[in-house]
Amino acid sequence: MTPCFEKRIWGGRRLATEFGFDIPDGSIGECWAVSAYPGHESEVLNGSGKGLRLSEFWEREPGFFGALPDSYVKAGYPFITKIIDARDDLSIQVHPDDAYAAAHENGARGKTECWYILDCPAGATLVLGHNAATRAQFADMVREHRWNELLRRVPVRKGDFIQLEPGTIHAITAGVMLLETQQSSDVTYRLYDYDRLEDGKPRQLHLSQSIDVVTVPEKDGDSMVKHMADTPVNVATEMVTCRFYSTYRLPVQGTAVLGSSELFRIATVTGGSGTLTADGTVYSLERGASFLLPAGGADCTLRGSLELILGRPVL
Ligand code: ZN
Repeated sequence: MTPCFEKRIWGGRRLATEFGFDIPDGSIGECWAVSAYPGHESEVLNGSGKGLRLSEFWEREPGFFGALPDSYVKAGYPFITKIIDARDDLSIQVHPDDAYAAAHENGARGKTECWYILDCPAGATLVLGHNAATRAQFADMVREHRWNELLRRVPVRKGDFIQLEPGTIHAITAGVMLLETQQSSDVTYRLYDYDRLEDGKPRQLHLSQSIDVVTVPEKDGDSMVKHMADTPVNVATEMVTCRFYSTYRLPVQGTAVLGSSELFRIATVTGGSGTLTADGTVYSLERGASFLLPAGGADCTLRGSLELILGRPVL
C-alpha cells in the first residue's frame, strides 16, 4: 500500500530519516500507511488490485477481504493505520464513540484507537486519562485551567502498547514515535492545546463535546499500558481484542509462517527488514512497508530479522 503524509505543527522529519519515506518538506507528523479515508487514501502497489485506491479495491474485490456482512462492506474500509512522529507535544484530546459521532458528526464513525510505541525518550510519559471524580468536577477543572491537577501522566517505554477507548483523554508527547491502528474516523475533540498558535491563531478547542464524551471516572493508568517488547519470536502475540479489531506483535528472526485467516489482515513492518513469500511471489519488506493479506489463501512465509504489527477486523 502507498502511504500519505500529513503536515502537523507538532510533526518532525523522522519518517524520512528513520523510515526512509520520501516525505514533503516541513513538519510531517503522520504517515497514513493504510487508509481509505477520503482525500487521504492508500493505493494498491501490486497484486490483483494494482493501481486502485483502497476504497475502490474494497468495493471491487470483496473476496479479498473475506465474508463480511453487507452493512460492514457498505460502511467502507474500516481502519486507518498510521505511523506518528511527534517532535513536539500533541494537543490534549478525546474521541467520541460511534453513537455520539453518528448523532453529532454527520454520521461519522467514532474513534477507538491503539498505540504501539516504536520509540520514545528515556522517562517519557503520555497523557492518559484524568483525575476528576465526576463530570461536574471535570468541567470545573477545565474551566479553571487546572491542567496539571486534572491530566494524568503515565510513564511509557519502547515496546509498550496502549488501547484507547472513546472517552479516554490522551496526548502523545514530544519525542514519541508510534504505530496507531484506529477506526477510520477523523473526529477529534481538542480539550487543551498548551495555548499554542498555528499561523498566529490558536487551534480550535471543543470543550463542550469533550466534557460530553469523557469517561468519568477513568480507569487506573497503569492498567492501560501493556509491555509487549519481549514477546516470543516467530509468534504473533495478541496485544488487544476490542469490538473493532485485534492487533498483534510478530517479531521474526529467521523464518516465521503466517497461517491463513478467514478475514483480511493488515501488517506494517515497524523494524528490520526481510521478505514475504506468498503464492510463490517474494516481496521485499523494509521498515515502514505496509501490506494487506487476503482472506483465506495459503500460508505465507516471512524471512529475515524484522518486527511486524498486525491487525484484523473483529465482527
Ligand atoms: Zn487520538
